[in-house]
Amino acid sequence: MLTLNLPQDSAAPLKILCLGSHSDDIEIGCGGTILRMLSGTQKIEITWIVFASNSEREREARNSAALFLNQATRKEILIKSFRDGFFPFEGAQIKNYFEELKGIAPDLIFTHSRKDAHQDHRLIAELTWNTFRNHLVLEYEIPKYDGDLGQPNLFVPLEQEICETKVRYLMGAFESQRTKPWFGRDTFLALMRLRGMECVAASGYAETFYCHKLVL
Ligand SMILES: [Zn+2]
Repeated sequence: MLTLNLPQDSAAPLKILCLGSHSDDIEIGCGGTILRMLSGTQKIEITWIVFASNSEREREARNSAALFLNQATRKEILIKSFRDGFFPFEGAQIKNYFEELKGIAPDLIFTHSRKDAHQDHRLIAELTWNTFRNHLVLEYEIPKYDGDLGQPNLFVPLEQEICETKVRYLMGAFESQRTKPWFGRDTFLALMRLRGMECVAASGYAETFYCHKLVL
């Protein structure tokens, strides 16, 4: 399998925009990939936006982002307070907020899958594509009760140590979620293990994304 790599060691920093509806979405979907990218020598600037929060979940989101983005050259963490579960009904305000993001000019965007079964996730995915029309957009996956896992087409193999760090950060930062039956170390590792098997990752682990448009 031919591997395509993002620029390494270029003088200009790589600008990444991470978008997540809820406080733990970005970490679950692409936390390992972010950790892997930040472990290299490329300068990376990250804008990290969480759209829904309350005071407790904002605190958790900020703590988690600080852990995951520790190695970033520059980071901006923006936590909004749109209403959890009601994004389609707050669409105009969220669309207005996306208009404000047009000045960011990211090289790479991580966002939800446009086929995600959660209405909040789907709206953020749709507005991502609506706002950033000439950008590399990778859509991450979130396991959930609805059972919407599909067949992602872009694989990022991850060292087992990075997967363990991702899960440790998740379990440590999001105390409010630990009572949920799905929010567990085994769920996160199992999905990465299955995706690692699909791409024959040397470590056995990977995160995966949907890439709808890629220019070589
Ligand atoms: Zn979510």
